[in-house]
Amino acid sequence: MAQPLPPATIAAFAAIVGKDHVFFDEADQLAYQDKFAIDDALHHPAGAVAPATVEQVQAIVRVAAERGLSLWPISRGKNLGYGGSAPLLAGSVVLDMSRMKKIDYDEANGTVLLEPGVGFYDLYDFLKSRGMKHWLSVPGNSWGSVVGNALDRGVGYTPYGEHAARICGIEAVMADGLVVRTGMGALDGAPTWQLYRFGFGPSWDQMFVQSNFGIVTKMGLWLMPAPESLMGMDLEFDRPEDLGPLIDAIAPLRREGLLQQSPTIGNWLRAAAVVTTRDQWTDKPGALADVVIAAIRKKFNVGWWGVSLRLYGRESVNKAAYAVLEQAMGALKPMAMRPTTWKAGEPMEASGWTGTPLTMPMQNANWHGGRGGHVGFSPILPQSGAAAMAQFQRTYARYKEFGMDYQASFAFGERHLINVNAVLINKDDPALMGRVDPFLKQLITDAKAQGYGEYRTHLDYMDAVAGTYDFNKGALWQINRKVKDALDPNGVIAPGKSGIWPTRKAGGRA
Ligand code: ADP
Repeated sequence: MAQPLPPATIAAFAAIVGKDHVFFDEADQLAYQDKFAIDDALHHPAGAVAPATVEQVQAIVRVAAERGLSLWPISRGKNLGYGGSAPLLAGSVVLDMSRMKKIDYDEANGTVLLEPGVGFYDLYDFLKSRGMKHWLSVPGNSWGSVVGNALDRGVGYTPYGEHAARICGIEAVMADGLVVRTGMGALDGAPTWQLYRFGFGPSWDQMFVQSNFGIVTKMGLWLMPAPESLMGMDLEFDRPEDLGPLIDAIAPLRREGLLQQSPTIGNWLRAAAVVTTRDQWTDKPGALADVVIAAIRKKFNVGWWGVSLRLYGRESVNKAAYAVLEQAMGALKPMAMRPTTWKAGEPMEASGWTGTPLTMPMQNANWHGGRGGHVGFSPILPQSGAAAMAQFQRTYARYKEFGMDYQASFAFGERHLINVNAVLINKDDPALMGRVDPFLKQLITDAKAQGYGEYRTHLDYMDAVAGTYDFNKGALWQINRKVKDALDPNGVIAPGKSGIWPTRKAGGRA
């Protein structure tokens, strides 16, 4: 457990938010811990405080600054696999903004202005109650916050799937308590805050993403107008080596814009890990043998790789684009090509492609049973079949070497791929847990040797991943530190987040 805070400090927080919204006993500390951290002890919070308004956030920041405390802002704190609600620095106070749930909807322009506590389910229900004129983009596991997910660069499956790219205007509380609004929001009363992303002068929205430069209290986001039609296909490919040609066939369609969503090519374990557990397939330790893989594929009727492609918008346009997709995919001779269509007014499938929040994919945390979870390893690659094949072969060999079951996907962006590797864990299996940390460090080293870096990482690896971004002796991190020193020299806000420490807390774990 972290050191308890002095009662006077807890009383100061309670005076701001009310005594029902401060959480500092042992059970509270446990509740905000990262249940999936490889080493629990590293990230114990001192407790949490839950404001309801921006003014309360400002007051909490002032108390923390006066008393030399660090705050760890979370929106809903559901960052599974990356640290959950836990702070990087043990002893920090979690600033839990899940009570702040206001939604401002501009239906004419298709934008929302959200407070951090708004969950994907909240926003979905809200839009549904107003006739679903706009669709959400949801991450595979949608139990978290819309704002929190965008701030950690979460992704979804519709054309609006790159969530951080759809941010338009932010309100943030800085470490000295100042409230700022970015972009057009800096012009008091501007009706264009959620319409023009850049404002006048430097544009700062992205400065608050994956950083610790401010506490985001409002975020503008663009929503996708509900499409008239959805068309696409679900494809299965038989052999590991089908990955390269598949990537080379999809990439130009994505770049040209014929395909506007971001397809994700995933391997055979995805379905199996969600609806079955490992012991239903084998009792042997080590990576799954080829016969087991074959049995899994047979049972679920899936390829080595599967991918779903979707087109959104006018039906006449989708029909024309579908013909292009069909020809490009047919040329690759997939094992299966299942078309799917939907038109406005018809019942809609509940899936990431229709922007419907789901939590079922999280079930893969139970693959090993026990206290299960997963840790991600997600380097960015170029959109090249050869590069992806080489990355797959290197990584798959490491999974076998470390006795891990391979679960991976290659997710398209506009110009890049994210190679998301899930490392499925069970905290009740010490032999498995002993291999996880060396395995992840090896993957980071292997990727770095190719010039690849991760786009997002668990608290445990933030310094290590920041260290791989090493051009000119880590010049970018020198800049990040200078900005941190200027804005927050005492590390009131999330010291260590994304490898950014103020000089006074350098190396952090002091
Ligand atoms: P979700 O509930 O969607 O998983 P989280 O609340 O866990 O999202 O947020 C993910 C990460 O983003 C947090 O660990 C934190 O580092 C950062 N973050 C979340 N909300 C805020 C915020 N309002 N201001 C600044 N940083 C935030």
